[in-house]
Amino acid sequence: KKEGTKMLKMTKGKTKIAKGEVGGGSFQSMGLHPSILRSLTLRGYKIPTPIQRLSIPTLLANPPRDLVGMARTGSGKTLAYMVPLVQRLGGRHAATFGARALILLPARELAVQVLKVGKELARGWGACEGGHAGDNEDIEGERSKAHGLRWGLVVGGEGLDEQFEMITNNPDVVIATPGRLLHLVVEMNLDLRSVQYVVFDEADRLFEMGFATALNEILHRLPSSRQTLLFSATLPKSLVEFAKAGLQDPKLVRLDAES
Ligand code: ADP
Ligand code: MG
Repeated sequence: KKEGTKMLKMTKGKTKIAKGEVGGGSFQSMGLHPSILRSLTLRGYKIPTPIQRLSIPTLLANPPRDLVGMARTGSGKTLAYMVPLVQRLGGRHAATFGARALILLPARELAVQVLKVGKELARGWGACEGGHAGDNEDIEGERSKAHGLRWGLVVGGEGLDEQFEMITNNPDVVIATPGRLLHLVVEMNLDLRSVQYVVFDEADRLFEMGFATALNEILHRLPSSRQTLLFSATLPKSLVEFAKAGLQDPKLVRLDAES
């Protein structure tokens, strides 16, 4: 693992190890939309975990910067990329064609979990605007449904027709496993050129499960102007190689096992 970190640092001159570095201390200090802060509070998330504290401000800074986040399982990596995703997408559906964000995960169950986290975080966007805060949940729910972010799940085990229909609904965020996503790209001409924000989550497991070829195929179909994130519990050599090919001068946030 140490060796992997060193290699990444060597090739990317400006890559910095953020170990011990202090980011914003609270969600409130990160410049987040009131709707996101409200969702976090509703879910009982009072203070950011270390990986969130170090990743969220970096991912929201302009110009966008790529990031490799390495922290143990259970350290809160999902919100570390989901909070900036929802904030960057403005919490609302865009009529422009194609997904603006793509999250890749190694298994269907993980994709379903991440979808739930994202939907909960983005829920109620708009309810804080125009003096409607405190309106009943029904009105808020309707407003979210009509204007809120649209989410698409592209995973094995679902019918291809349903997934095709889901894609024609023009989701803002696609959460996918690599095999099925590549199938849609190749067989159904799913266009990935609109993707601005891409996350390789549980990246060590993506590679353990033999998705390397599919991931490289997907990488080639993404626009070069994208912001690319890679989150993992470990950083084996194969992953370092992938990060070198797919990420540009990434900031490396690496936390020790206890963090
Ligand atoms: P990882 O992807 O690093 O394994 P998850 O993102 O799945 O971790 O989060 C692990 C657990 O921690 C989840 O149950 C999540 O709800 C909880 N969690 C995440 N962020 C916070 C936070 N800021 N405060 C409290 N609990 C949190
Ligand atoms: Mg995770």
